[in-house]
Amino acid sequence: MKEPIGTTGLALNEPLIWEKGRKGRTGFSLPKRDVEHAPLDEALTGDGPDLPDLSEVDVVRHYTRLSQWNYGVDSGMYPLGSCTMKYNPKTHERQAALPGFASAHPLLPASLSQGILRMMATLQRFLGEITGLPAVTLQPAAGAHGELTGMMIVRAYHNDRGAPRHKILIPDTAHGTNPASSVLCGFSPVPVKSNERGVLAPETVAELMDEDTAGIMITNPNTLGLFEENIRKIADIVHGKGGLVYVDGANMNAMMGIVSMGNIGVDLMHLNLHKTFSTPHGGGGPGSGPVCARQDLAPFLPVPRVKEKDGTFHLSYDHPKSIGKVHAFYGNVGILIRAYSYILSMGPNLKKASQLAVLNANYVKEKLKDTFYLPYDRPCMHECVFTDKWQEAHKITTLDIAKRLIDYGFHPPTIYFPLVVHGAIMIEPTETESKETLDTFIASCKAIAEEAKESPELLREAPTKPKVRRMDETRAARHPQLAG
Ligand SMILES: *Cc1c(COP(=O)(O)O)cnc(C)c1O
Repeated sequence: MKEPIGTTGLALNEPLIWEKGRKGRTGFSLPKRDVEHAPLDEALTGDGPDLPDLSEVDVVRHYTRLSQWNYGVDSGMYPLGSCTMKYNPKTHERQAALPGFASAHPLLPASLSQGILRMMATLQRFLGEITGLPAVTLQPAAGAHGELTGMMIVRAYHNDRGAPRHKILIPDTAHGTNPASSVLCGFSPVPVKSNERGVLAPETVAELMDEDTAGIMITNPNTLGLFEENIRKIADIVHGKGGLVYVDGANMNAMMGIVSMGNIGVDLMHLNLHKTFSTPHGGGGPGSGPVCARQDLAPFLPVPRVKEKDGTFHLSYDHPKSIGKVHAFYGNVGILIRAYSYILSMGPNLKKASQLAVLNANYVKEKLKDTFYLPYDRPCMHECVFTDKWQEAHKITTLDIAKRLIDYGFHPPTIYFPLVVHGAIMIEPTETESKETLDTFIASCKAIAEEAKESPELLREAPTKPKVRRMDETRAARHPQLAG
């Protein structure tokens, strides 16, 4: 291959900003004082906050150097499976920063907030159309929060029918947050095994579904990157026993404009706006996980709801069956603006984005299936899952491969997840990577697989090129050094 993109750069050391400070140094010059010296109020004197004294160039260099230790979607490919680390066009940041949005206060009356309410109402309509599930709440702050909200709606639905239920079916290919969210909501999760094709079999669901089971929570596409092809039959079985079908739609990036969830028997689902709908993520938030539901579940959605009447928009609280509020005010509005802007700028090309995401994942899968073992050799959706089975002979593990990819200039894929695959390497390239970048990534993986045979120590020592070498992860977790 050509020169890998990950070569050794100049990564400068940088102390803590407090260590750089020097008493009396300052970032700006004030005009000479022309009033008498007077003591400040008692409250303002004393020790004051512990802030370092620094010049402007000290501060600029400090933060610029720290930013260069970082790796993000803006610096290179980030094939982290189950995360949709696609490039987020900068125009959406601009729209979110428009003064009318950025300065809007949530306590302003509706009459002074018509623009932002209209934006939210329109986004609800867009998401309802994309999912085929028209009753939408924008409040949840993340995917897992959407799941919890969804589970609360499922519980409220059964309680309202006078027949509370206690169990929920959760496939072994579900995202790890699914059982956690259902437990938090008071349900007992019942694990469902997927079949040898990596998807759910209707018979298995039929065996487990009963009248104390509130429904099923399916990650679709599942964490193997496979579409749950039996979902219609499964939905019939669950509905037949009075249950509801919840879909974890965090992976909607594979299906926009292609699959209408409402049409395949799904009753409610969440979306991850910070994955599929163009919000930078990975630094811990904020995010947004709207829940989209069948129209007859609308009474249970959180309040307030954004409503339109005679061309004006208002917040409506009058929903006695609602599960209540799940977030302060109306959700993370900045994320909603980015999603709204993304959907408007993409229009019908949303479908193309999904098609390209699926194409790119299948391209990587086909090109690498002679390099890494592919446990489910069939067309995938937005991501593909390999393992380290063929590298085991050289005592090389998934972790070594992931660390070596850093030396080649790539963020590692998701590793050791999903749990149903031993030594998993889960690659989600997304639609925003070019063929050239994918080819460089593929060539890097192939070169690493060669190294695993010829000179495995290179992998065991990796990464050698970044500022921080391989960490002792156990020690880092047990004795974190948070000071620098
Ligand atoms: C990312 C993800 C989640 C969790 O989303 P958060 O916003 O991190 O809470 C849930 N399910 C699936 C399938 C995901 O990929």
